[in-house]
Amino acid sequence: MASIDALELTLGDLERWCEAEGLPRYRASQVAHSLYRQGVRDFAEMQTVPREVRQSLAGAYGIGTLGVRHVAHAVDGTTKLLFALPDGATIEGVLIPDGRRLTLCVSTQVGCAMDCAFCATATLGFGRHLTRGQIVEQFLLARAAAPVGSDGTRDVITNLVFMGMGEPLHNYEGTVGAIGTLTAPWGVGVSPRRITVSTVGLVPQMQRLLEETKVHLAVSLTAVDEALRRRLMPVTRRYSVAELLAACRKLPLPRRKRITFEYVMLAGVNDAPEQARALMRALHGIRCKVNLMPHNPCPGGEFARSEDAVGAKFADILRTGAVHATVRESRGSDIAAACGQLVAEGEARPAQD
Ligand code: SF4
Repeated sequence: MASIDALELTLGDLERWCEAEGLPRYRASQVAHSLYRQGVRDFAEMQTVPREVRQSLAGAYGIGTLGVRHVAHAVDGTTKLLFALPDGATIEGVLIPDGRRLTLCVSTQVGCAMDCAFCATATLGFGRHLTRGQIVEQFLLARAAAPVGSDGTRDVITNLVFMGMGEPLHNYEGTVGAIGTLTAPWGVGVSPRRITVSTVGLVPQMQRLLEETKVHLAVSLTAVDEALRRRLMPVTRRYSVAELLAACRKLPLPRRKRITFEYVMLAGVNDAPEQARALMRALHGIRCKVNLMPHNPCPGGEFARSEDAVGAKFADILRTGAVHATVRESRGSDIAAACGQLVAEGEARPAQD
């Protein structure tokens, strides 16, 4: 039985395989095109590849390891996908339409080790890292499941965020490997400018990511008071707010690029005017923008969402200090679209579309 997933392969890997099989190199490009551009799930469907080559490929590799267990459509157009791994563990992806954009949010781990106090995924604990191929496969499956427009064609995914289950930079190899396949001309071909990686602030990996890729970086901040952030985001014990922001000041940002700071608004916890002023002062001198994100309360969770008016006032205060601030809309709340919610609320739902 084939045990290696072909979606783990780069063009170079495929070229080496072709060489070992005595095949011309261009076959590797044809195979990569079928896998990543056409999203072929069975070697028999690779029409540009001769039958003997398809048979050899099928003897050496399989295609993909994920299944789509559940698809949920929200009234606001958000689509949530629950993917099953071979051992039955589940991860999530979310398609979020916004005007001409269609953004896919992918997961990088089963569960998460970061233990953020306001997050549904944290309640699952850490399972394991997803592989490069499993992250890429979420894109391929979501692309095939994207909503069909009035003209009968599927909507195209325009943006990609690494903001689903897991801390992407804790799974550095999987994340950067997937970015490689997703952005390569031989791979999926997404522009790195349309990819955002969101992190709780693993400082060394943030620096490495910006040196090794051209993707956009988002840092989940949510508090600047050290004690409060330690309570909300235990990673602060490893990298203090002061250390994190000092590192952000020194990041090798390309010209005209900004870091995004995400700030989850928790009612009565981090949404007071003086906390907005503290945030404004803390970000002074950093080329950045702030996304104020509504909290999606999970059942039994200890936090509530801030009122819209509180979020608007918080943003206004930031703007008085010339900090670019936006208040994000909550999306897909009728289908538990916040990261980890669908899995955390129970996986025993039937597949549907
Ligand atoms: S917010 Fe992100 S990093 Fe924190 S526990 Fe949830 S998935 Fe992990």
